[in-house]
Amino acid sequence: MKSDIQIAQEVKMANIKEIAKTAGIDEKYLEQYGNYKAKVDYNLLDDKKDTPDGKLILVTAISPTPAGEGKTTTSVGLADALHKAGVNVMTALREPSLGPVFGVKGGAAGGGYAQVVPMEDINLHFTGDFHAIGAANNLIAAMVDNHIQQGNVLGIDPRRITWKRAVDMNDRQLRNIVDGMGGKMSGVPREDGFEITVASEVMAIMCLAKDIDDLKEKLASIIVGYTYEDKPVTVRDLKAQGAAAALLKDALKPNLVQTLEKTPAFVHCGPFANIAHGCNSIMATKMALKLADYVVTEAGFAADLGAEKFVDIKCRKAGLTPSACVIVATVKALKYHGGVKKEDLAAENLEALEKGLPNLLQHVENVTQHFGLPAVVAINEFPTDTEAELKLVEEKCKELGVNVVLSQVWGKGGEGGLALAEEVLRLCEKENHFQFVYPLDVSIESKIQMIAQKIYRADGVIFEGNAKKQLKQLEDLGFDNVPVCMAKTQFSFSDNPALLGAPRGFQITVTDLKIDAGAGFIVAKTGNIMTMPGLPKVPAAEKIDVDNTGKITGLF
Ligand code: ADP
Ligand code: MG
Repeated sequence: MKSDIQIAQEVKMANIKEIAKTAGIDEKYLEQYGNYKAKVDYNLLDDKKDTPDGKLILVTAISPTPAGEGKTTTSVGLADALHKAGVNVMTALREPSLGPVFGVKGGAAGGGYAQVVPMEDINLHFTGDFHAIGAANNLIAAMVDNHIQQGNVLGIDPRRITWKRAVDMNDRQLRNIVDGMGGKMSGVPREDGFEITVASEVMAIMCLAKDIDDLKEKLASIIVGYTYEDKPVTVRDLKAQGAAAALLKDALKPNLVQTLEKTPAFVHCGPFANIAHGCNSIMATKMALKLADYVVTEAGFAADLGAEKFVDIKCRKAGLTPSACVIVATVKALKYHGGVKKEDLAAENLEALEKGLPNLLQHVENVTQHFGLPAVVAINEFPTDTEAELKLVEEKCKELGVNVVLSQVWGKGGEGGLALAEEVLRLCEKENHFQFVYPLDVSIESKIQMIAQKIYRADGVIFEGNAKKQLKQLEDLGFDNVPVCMAKTQFSFSDNPALLGAPRGFQITVTDLKIDAGAGFIVAKTGNIMTMPGLPKVPAAEKIDVDNTGKITGLF
């Protein structure tokens, strides 16, 4: 079997100018980064403001197994299938982070015959957006510490600085550090730490900014810490927003690439789906909607996390209404929810498969009833799936009235997604009752309770330790009118990764509440959420290499 990178390297890519032509992007908006990548000037959005939007299709998934369920693969394959069917389509995806590329998961440019290319570039540096985001983040950090060094007029309490430094790497060594050592001329010693760039608030802001002015306003609103008098200190107080925005001006432009079948694709920004909202930029999605009749996009993790935040944060802030939703499921993941261990997932097990179905059903119910979207389950076919297993899933879903289609895009590209494409086109014409899970004008507590009870099916929410005090502080600071970004494990509907399937009779425990005043949401942490991951015992990086001609191998 060919690896993802082998398949990607065998395809002859079209020049990006050709792809821009397919997408209907005038050359004057195109800023080329070599022959196969280009940034698209955001003025296109303004010039096309009277063009009606296309239809937006969200791809989400059931609660995942550790390897990923194939949301990106399915998004790319579905876009290729629609393209093949003669539809004017684009896909809008997130940019991969170097952390997972070198860690456990590998790349994030799709897989098999459903990928975006050049996959090596997309997975490594790409057009430099993440480095720019890291630089903007670290400029703010440098200005915080410099302010203290130069006399600390604002009275920033060095023990209460919440702003961290950022680097796009899984580097646990930097998670908690002491810096500013070396005496009077080298800063004020304090406890500090790094976040991976994709977990930084600047990343979330980039994904939510509507234009440069909005970007600057959001950067200015970031709270970097608190004074000795308990008052929040913002980037505006440090006068850092202009320079930070200047660093980000090119990164804010969506990146145009192509799929293996030459469907135009935007790959732009990518916040973590735990600590942030897990979707590509509003800028790229909006641009795609102006250019194409149908836009396929992806939200990170499962539908209880990624799709909920896509709906309640991204769609609400951008004024978007999706037309349909694809819920990716795999035979492996269903068996995992039915109690099969990770190492036994390849063997046929019909009993476990059936036992795992309640997880999928709860996601389907959430999407159709709580988000109000027409939905279809896409069974992402793996080489290890048996015919009996695939038949059983289809039968059971149909018995339960769940709309289901087999997707073979990983093995066959767009051709393998034609049935899914046909169903999605049908769904886009259906009546749509799109709605948010909670309104903005209720208490922070109520918002979290509504998510926990409606989407997770928890009995209730417990606010533990600091969280109780923080609820009151955030209300006093006037931050009760923003959406909540839930930070929860993706492996379970509950906050306990071991509770698989569709658990009942549990409580959600919120341990920490933090305002991301720039991004404009409150992060509610349940359990231990990592903002700087580490590498595994055998990092994927050990297998990656480059030869003397510049050809990269071992990326997956
Ligand atoms: P997600 O977006 O849900 O995290 P991806 O689409 O990135 O998942 O896929 C994760 C990994 O699984 C990729 O390496 C991809 O090649 C692989 N994969 C996805 N679908 C299939 C499939 N049907 N058969 C085999 N491998 C697959
Ligand atoms: Mg993905």
